[in-house]
Amino acid sequence: MALTLSRKAQEVKPSSTLAITAKAKELKAQGIDVVGFGAGEPDFNTPENINNAAIKAIHDGFTKYTPAAGIEELKKAICTKFANFNKLQYQPNQIVISNGGKHSLTNIFTAILNPGDEVIIPAPFWLSYPEIIKLSGGVPVIVRCDKTQNYKLTAEQLEEACTDKTKAVILNTPNNPTGMVYSKEELQAIADVVVKKDIYVIADEMYENLIYGEDVHVSIGSLGEEIYKRTITCSGVAKSYAMTGWRIGYTGSSVEIAKLMGSIQSHQTSNPNSIAQKATVEALTGPQKTVEVMKYEFNKRREYMYDRLSKMPLIDTVEPTGAFYCFIDIGNLLNKSYKGEKVETVSKLAAILIDDYNVAVIPCADFGFDDHIRLSYAISLEQIQKGLDRIEKFINDLA
Ligand code: PMP
Repeated sequence: MALTLSRKAQEVKPSSTLAITAKAKELKAQGIDVVGFGAGEPDFNTPENINNAAIKAIHDGFTKYTPAAGIEELKKAICTKFANFNKLQYQPNQIVISNGGKHSLTNIFTAILNPGDEVIIPAPFWLSYPEIIKLSGGVPVIVRCDKTQNYKLTAEQLEEACTDKTKAVILNTPNNPTGMVYSKEELQAIADVVVKKDIYVIADEMYENLIYGEDVHVSIGSLGEEIYKRTITCSGVAKSYAMTGWRIGYTGSSVEIAKLMGSIQSHQTSNPNSIAQKATVEALTGPQKTVEVMKYEFNKRREYMYDRLSKMPLIDTVEPTGAFYCFIDIGNLLNKSYKGEKVETVSKLAAILIDDYNVAVIPCADFGFDDHIRLSYAISLEQIQKGLDRIEKFINDLA
């Protein structure tokens, strides 16, 4: 037997967002003043009450294995949050707590997919979805959702994309990378198709707390009994509570799927970190004021960034109302020249921006849109201002 490697593993693309963030870090380490718009995480510290709950857990000796799918106390806290915030009724035996939202999604696809099953992914999408699906033996089916539809999947598009192999559709609201939020009416129309086609919907609601202005968060699983049965709701504490490093994500699903996920997890990773679970109990049940404070700051930055971007020539942005990203159409820049050379691709554009203007942006080819970039506003207003000045200069320098 030759020393070959797993074909499935070799088909997985390394994360390009992590690559650009690494490059920005490398330049910063050399003392270069880089503005990093790549951040997929809040720049705030985890709130003190949450830190203290973790410290208490350590001192109390809560440092042993817990049940593989998580502790009952946290499952109950998640059920209460689901009931109050999402209008979703789950019992503790429908909850599985995992090592971050990414891990929750991995468990979901491992639990529901058989080889060749198709999963519909509306594009633009968070770049890990297709890779997680491929690793789980599934086939990603990308459906492009244009700027004219605010980058959101319509019920008609979903219906058209369904085949007899379709197993599920992913719906991410608020959305990474677009910052768009689905309305109740849009979700209802999609839910009707999901029920008619009898497929699952994976509702990735990771950014559910980060919605600005008039929009409100609606969980698709809350829109009726039939859609509830077909929904697997996935969320976590990373973005809402500035807890990216703690690695806690969770799902609400049917008891049957929860059992499968719990069993998969029991063999692959065992329980999520015991201390992080206690911290998450505090995050969900303790005072929520810090969430509001972070949201207030994000909103100020969002307004500033959107205002600046919408005044810049040649680029186009739809106002984001959720998460902490602006998604920018830079298609018109790709026809231009920089230092006598045509800027042909979005990755070339991102490379010029980081090398010559010291601004890190995320080229979105791996998010399904090869003429868009994503800017995160999870950095300070001063940094945002400086970075946007540099991007504006770049645009003006193009011929
Ligand atoms: N879903 C979306 C849409 C995300 O953007 C992310 C994180 N970037 C996740 C899930 C995973 O979050 P976690 O850090 O909890 O794994």
